[in-house]
Amino acid sequence: MSKETLNINSLLIHGGIDGDETTGAVNVPVYQTSTYKQDGLGKNRGWEYSRTGNPTRAALEKLIADLEKGQYGLAFASGLAAINTVLSLFKSGDKLIVSDNIYGGTFRILDNVFKNFGITYKIVNTSDLAAVEAAIDDDVKAIYIETPANPLLTITDIEAVSNIGKKHGKLVIVDNTFLTPYLQRPIELGADIVIHSGTKYLGGHSDTISGFVVVNDKALADRLYYLQNAIGGVLAPWDSFLIIRGIKTLGVRMDRHVANANKIAKWLSDSGYVSKVYYPGLESDPGYEIQKKQADGAGAMISFVLDEKYDYKRFFEQLQLITLAESLGGVESLVCHPASMTHAAIPADIRKEVGIVDELIRLSVGIEDVDDLIADLKQAILNSAKA
Ligand SMILES: *Cc1c(COP(=O)(O)O)cnc(C)c1O
Repeated sequence: MSKETLNINSLLIHGGIDGDETTGAVNVPVYQTSTYKQDGLGKNRGWEYSRTGNPTRAALEKLIADLEKGQYGLAFASGLAAINTVLSLFKSGDKLIVSDNIYGGTFRILDNVFKNFGITYKIVNTSDLAAVEAAIDDDVKAIYIETPANPLLTITDIEAVSNIGKKHGKLVIVDNTFLTPYLQRPIELGADIVIHSGTKYLGGHSDTISGFVVVNDKALADRLYYLQNAIGGVLAPWDSFLIIRGIKTLGVRMDRHVANANKIAKWLSDSGYVSKVYYPGLESDPGYEIQKKQADGAGAMISFVLDEKYDYKRFFEQLQLITLAESLGGVESLVCHPASMTHAAIPADIRKEVGIVDELIRLSVGIEDVDDLIADLKQAILNSAKA
């Protein structure tokens, strides 16, 4: 059977390099080596130095490319190392159009690192296609989107933005961390570059930091491999092994994540405890139709604002099963306060403008029993009632 015809649940387990050809080991071994014996001057066996290439990392890079339906995959030490490498495609004078609620660290590297090198950005509500089109000028070299965007789960139409990018000759970059290729494949929708924080759902167990880039174009891939080696933020062999191991269960995990999230989002909306729920899987959500068209599920991130009867600071203290922590996408449910945690790097005025209010709570729904999660949310809300 050819790999191309395999369905995603088989690809998760057999995609990339399946096992070890030399020994028959069913898992790709951890090649914990920095360098490789050369058989003579200019004669090597395909491997020279592990920053440049490592067999465990290469197996994972092939796997993520297969899953995202791209030809080329690259693995990095973190999502931000991946983003750093992609942003290094640009030069002084270039400008990027960026979704208006993106990951705080992405905003930070744009605003405090690349801006110093003369690469600028323009924040646009990319769910408004007319606004994207209007923001394009000669200096713009790329459109960088996150969908669902962080933390308000705003949906951008990937295919429509990709068409705008093609029409004007601009690269379209999609951060696919929140949905993973199990639910959404931006390259199939016309995007040029897919970025991941593999720290989240791909790894899935809150134990490994990692990042990915996937592309389909050979020239773009060559430049990115060059930058990966030149900049050096590569994923270590052991961490590559852990992410391969995590990806094997991505399908079963995502099914449970999404089922739990759908149930919790509906419960929250009907509870009378909240003034707002952001979840693109709710029919009332403005992104619902586009989300349904471009992805196979709405993911498991929910944001909400408690009714003013409740004290959001006390709510965080009352939770017993759900953990207050940065990050998302692990098997355990995590909750965070975007304004002071993940999105603290975004200036208060911009935060307010895009809707990241102090009362906003972001929930990464895990794969625990959903009734236990709802019970924990309910008791924490009721115990946070203002006097
Ligand atoms: C976490 C995250 C990143 C950054 O990834 P790290 O692995 O933490 O460096 C980028 N984008 C999104 C959407 C994320 O959630």
